[in-house]
Amino acid sequence: ASVFANVPAAPADPLFSLIAAYKADTFDKKVDLGIGAYRTDEAKPWVLPVVKKADAIIRDDPDLDHEYLPIAGLSSFTSAAARLIFGDDSPALAQKRVVSIQAISGTGALHTGAKFFSKFYPRPQNQKVYLSNPTWGNHVQIFENVGLPTTYYPYYHPATRGLDFEGLTNALRNADEGSIFVLHACAHNPTGVDPTHEQWEKIADIMAEKKLFPFFDCAYQGFASGSLDEDAWAVRHFVKKGFELCIAQSFSKNLGLYNERVGCYHFVSPPLADADVPAGDLCDVSMRIKSQLAIIQRSEISNPPAYGARIGDIVLNDPALFAEWKQNLETMAGRIILMRKLLVEKLKELGTPGDWSHVTKQIGMFSFTGLTEKQVMRLREEAHIYMTKNGRISMAGLNSRNVEYFARAVDKVVR
Ligand code: PMP
Repeated sequence: ASVFANVPAAPADPLFSLIAAYKADTFDKKVDLGIGAYRTDEAKPWVLPVVKKADAIIRDDPDLDHEYLPIAGLSSFTSAAARLIFGDDSPALAQKRVVSIQAISGTGALHTGAKFFSKFYPRPQNQKVYLSNPTWGNHVQIFENVGLPTTYYPYYHPATRGLDFEGLTNALRNADEGSIFVLHACAHNPTGVDPTHEQWEKIADIMAEKKLFPFFDCAYQGFASGSLDEDAWAVRHFVKKGFELCIAQSFSKNLGLYNERVGCYHFVSPPLADADVPAGDLCDVSMRIKSQLAIIQRSEISNPPAYGARIGDIVLNDPALFAEWKQNLETMAGRIILMRKLLVEKLKELGTPGDWSHVTKQIGMFSFTGLTEKQVMRLREEAHIYMTKNGRISMAGLNSRNVEYFARAVDKVVR
C-alpha cells in the first residue's frame, strides 16, 4: 500500500469545475458567466490589439533569445509596473523605497508576499491576515499555505448590496495592532463594490491609528473605471499617507494575458527624511527586503517567465503603445458598463421583482446579483446559464445577443 494511503481527497476547485461543466454542455444558447475573463460581444476571448503589436515586435527582434531573466525579473518591466500603480510622481519612488519583483501573476505575487510575511513579519500576538467577507476564494489558502492564520472582516451588506462600511471600520478598530489587512485595490472580487474616495480616506486614517498593515491586491487596474489612474487611487492615497505597505499586482485582466502569468510584487518601505534618501538604487531597508525576496524567488521558481513580461515591458514603456492600451482598456471597461445598463433595462422592461440598481452601481468585472444558490442552480438546470453559487456573474459573459435571454431566465427564477 502507498505510504500516502491516508491522503484525504481535496474538493475540486469550484470555479474550474464550473468551467468544465459549461464546456461539456451542448445546448446552443448556453451562457458562461463564471470565469472572470473578458469576452467580446461575440462571446470570444480578446487578444488586445496592442498586445498583438507588442508580440510582433518581440518576434521581429533578431536578438531575441531564451536566456534566463534575472531572479527579480525583467527590470524595465517591473519598474514600469511600479510607475503604473504608484504614479510617475510617487513620493515612494522618488525616495527609492519601493522594491519590485516580478511574479507569477497576481496569485504568485500574493504568494511571494505571503511567504515574505511568514518569514519576517513580527506577529507576537499571532496577528492574523484579515480578508474581506466575501473575497476571492484563493486568498484563504494562499495565506494559510504559508502558515499565516486568516480571518474575515465584514465587507458586503446584503440588504443594500453595497459596502458594509460600519462593519468594516469596526473590524479595523477592533483588530490587534499589527494585523494584516488584505484590501482589493479596485473592482472588488466577487462583489463589484468598492469604497468611495472618502471611505478609503477614513479606512486609511483608522489603519494608521491602529497600526494595521495594508496588503493590497490589485488584479483589475483599468478595469473598474476604464482609467488606470482612477483605479490606482486607493493605493496612491495610502502611499501619500506614508504607510509601509505592499501590493500584489496582476496583468492578467488588463492586458488580457491570463495564462502568461504576468505580475509583480511591490513592497513600499516607510518615508525617509530627505537626508536619508539614497543616491543609489534603493534605501537600506528596501535593499535588505529585496535580497530576501530574491531568496524566496530563487528557491521557488528560480527565474520568472519572460514572454508576458516582455509584452508588458513594450506596452508600458512605448508612449504610442501605452496610449493605445488605454483605448483597449476603455473598450473593455466600456462594454462591461454597457452590459450593466442593458441588463437593468431588460429587467425593468420585464417588470422583474426587486431593485436591480446595484447592477449598475457595482463596478469592474463582476456583479453580485443577490441571486440565491437555489436560483443559481435553477438557472443552470433550466437555462444552461453558468455562474458561481454565490450569485456572482462575470459581466463580460453578457453580450448584446444573450443579455435578454439571461434577463428572461432571471425573471423566471425570481418570481
Ligand atoms: N486577486 C483577485 C482578487 C483576483 O480576482 C484574481 C484573478 N481572478 C487574482 C488576484 C489573481 O489572478 P492571476 O493570478 O491570474 O493574476
